[in-house]
Amino acid sequence: MTLAQAEQLTARRQRDLEAIGRAVQAEMLFWMARLDPGDLMGSWFDEVLPGLYAALVRGQTQAAAGASSYVADAAQAMGVNAATPWEVAPGAFAGAAADGRPLSSMLTVPALRGRLAVEERGQSAEWAAGQIRQSVLLMGASETADAGWGAAQTAMVGTWHITGYIRCISAGACKRCAVLAGRWYRWNADFLRHKHCHCYGIPAAGDEARNRGRGSWRTDPHRYFDSLSRRDQDRLFGRGGAESIRAGADLASVVNARRVSSQLGRLDAGGTVVSTTTEGVTRRGWFHHVRTELERIEGRPLSRVRLTPEAIFKLAADREELVRLLGRHGYLVRAAADIARL
Ligand SMILES: [Zn+2]
Repeated sequence: MTLAQAEQLTARRQRDLEAIGRAVQAEMLFWMARLDPGDLMGSWFDEVLPGLYAALVRGQTQAAAGASSYVADAAQAMGVNAATPWEVAPGAFAGAAADGRPLSSMLTVPALRGRLAVEERGQSAEWAAGQIRQSVLLMGASETADAGWGAAQTAMVGTWHITGYIRCISAGACKRCAVLAGRWYRWNADFLRHKHCHCYGIPAAGDEARNRGRGSWRTDPHRYFDSLSRRDQDRLFGRGGAESIRAGADLASVVNARRVSSQLGRLDAGGTVVSTTTEGVTRRGWFHHVRTELERIEGRPLSRVRLTPEAIFKLAADREELVRLLGRHGYLVRAAADIARL
């Protein structure tokens, strides 16, 4: 029962999520190849978007599926009682973006921007197709990762003895994340992540003092720094910063942990998803057409924005209400073993 064991489980989880993200991107590339520069929007709605949508829904579901068992295993490794009547429902974390918008709508924003660039700024359709591809691939990776983390956070909330989590960084972490390695977050705290951040939380109980200094570089800023080659130290922390840390300066004061928190918070607010909605980049008549196409692909009206776990986290007055709301909105379900006992 050690932090080091939990770190290994978390590292495996991070690798699994990255692999799922890469698989989604590979599938997206297959569909993006069907984008016809001669008929951008026609090919987008007929062939490309349905394929991208299905690939991303599958990726989000897979990413969320591993969350309950990861949280149970890692909690046990940390010596925390992992008993819970709940497990996350993976499908609930798929089909919407991290901000609650329908996926089809989020995915279509770059296509609409591309169309505008061609029709109003005279860009070539090939150029637009390249831009669309790039944006869509980034969404594939970040929405998959967000579903995986949202599900883990939800699983932790549903496990009573877990009172918070410890930030676990991954190989190549930037200095903003490095300085926060090992930091303790209360179960309902905002876990500040930048776009495409691979940091993950190790479920834990009690205060952070109990685990400080007990883990590897994954939960210890100075060990992380020492694990890097001189060249990587310079690259990630800047020549001057790396030099002072090597000379014995405290990493947190060089990087300025407090400023990092506010920077990450700002990035997080609008970072994960493009904040412009489809309404913002289309004209009225055309918008009606776009909406009809999106509803056909989603198989449901777009009028209802899904209440995301993150929004529910902010709404609930206490943890009991939070668990109840997560259950009512389908994110947590009674565990199969629990139902068998009834
Ligand atoms: Zn980072």
